[in-house]
Amino acid sequence: MPLVLIILIVALIVMFYRFKTTSLTRNCRWREDRAEACWRCAFCGARQEGAAVPKRCLQR
Ligand SMILES: [Zn+2]
Repeated sequence: MPLVLIILIVALIVMFYRFKTTSLTRNCRWREDRAEACWRCAFCGARQEGAAVPKRCLQR
C-alpha cells in the first residue's frame, strides 16, 4: 500500500512543520508579575495586562 505510506509521510511532515513554527513563534514564556499585575514574556519582553495567561507572543 504505497498510498498509505505517502499519507503517513505527509502527515508527519505537516506535524513537524507545525511543531517547529509554533515552538518558534507562539511559545512565549509568560510569567506573572504580581507587583505590576501583568504578564511578562521572558522570551521577547512583551507585556500584557489581565488575569488570564496570554496565549501567543505579541512581538513576533
Ligand atoms: Zn514573547
